[in-house]
Amino acid sequence: MTDLIKHDFTFTQSNLQTFAYCRHRFFLRYVKNLIWPAAQLSGSNHLLDRDAGVRFHQLLHQYFLGLDLDHLQTIAAADRDQRMEVWFDNFLSSPVCRLEGRLLSEASFTATIEEHNLGAKVDLLQIDQDFIKIFDWKTSRKSPGVSQLKSQAQSMVYPLVISKAFPFDNIIMVYWEANFPDQPIEITSQAQDLQRYEQKITELIDSITSLAAEEFVRVSEISKCSRCEFATYCGRADKNAEAKLTLEPDDYEELRIVPEEWLDSSGLV
Ligand code: SF4
Repeated sequence: MTDLIKHDFTFTQSNLQTFAYCRHRFFLRYVKNLIWPAAQLSGSNHLLDRDAGVRFHQLLHQYFLGLDLDHLQTIAAADRDQRMEVWFDNFLSSPVCRLEGRLLSEASFTATIEEHNLGAKVDLLQIDQDFIKIFDWKTSRKSPGVSQLKSQAQSMVYPLVISKAFPFDNIIMVYWEANFPDQPIEITSQAQDLQRYEQKITELIDSITSLAAEEFVRVSEISKCSRCEFATYCGRADKNAEAKLTLEPDDYEELRIVPEEWLDSSGLV
C-alpha cells in the first residue's frame, strides 16, 4: 500500500468508475485533485445535458421534501431546457411519484470495507416493511441496457453500502429514466451478489491503493480520451470531441455537491 491515497479517502461509485475508465484520470482527479477546465466543451450537448440533469435531480429532491407541487411545476415549465417540463410531467405520471414507506431523498451513507470508506449518495431510498429500494434518476437520451447498468460500479457500490446499513435479504436498485418513464430497470441483489460485490470492490480498492504514481497509466484506447475533460492536458484532444461526448454515469454524483449546498437541506469492472 502506498501513501498516495489518504486513509480517510472515501471510495465511491464515481471514483471507482473513473479508475475503471482510465487509471490516469483517477490519478489526476483524486490524487492530484486537478481541476482542468474543459473550456472547449462549453455550450456542448454534454454540458447542457449534464446541467439539465442536475436541475432535474434538484426538482425531484424538492418534490420528496414536500415542496408545493404547483410551485415545482412552474419551475419546471420555466426551465431554460424545454425537456424539464416533459421530464417532470413524466415523473408525475409515473408510479415513482407515489411511493410509500419511509423515503429518504439525496441521502448519503458510508460503509467500511476492510478499513476503507465506501460511500454512496442515493437519489432516493425507499424503506418498506418487506423490501428496500434504491432509486436512481436518469435523463439519458438513450435508454441503457440492463447489462450495461449491471457492469457499472454504481450497481455494486450502492446495494453493498445500503446492505451494511439496513439488514434486508434483497436490495433492489431501480434505474428510472425521465425519457423512458415506463421502462424502469430493476436489479435485485441477494446475499451471494453482495458478497461478490464486496470481494470485487475490495480487490479493486487494494489494487488502487497499491499503485505507485507511475502506475496510474493512461488508457490505451485513445478513443476514450475524446470523452474526458483532461484530453487537452494529456495531449489527446480530438477536435471532433464535442460530437462524441456523452454523459458518464459518475457525472451526477459529483455535481450533486452543488444542489446540496444550494438547497441548504430544506438535495467494475
Ligand atoms: S485524456 Fe485519456 S489518458 Fe488522459 S486522463 Fe483522460 S482518459 Fe485518461
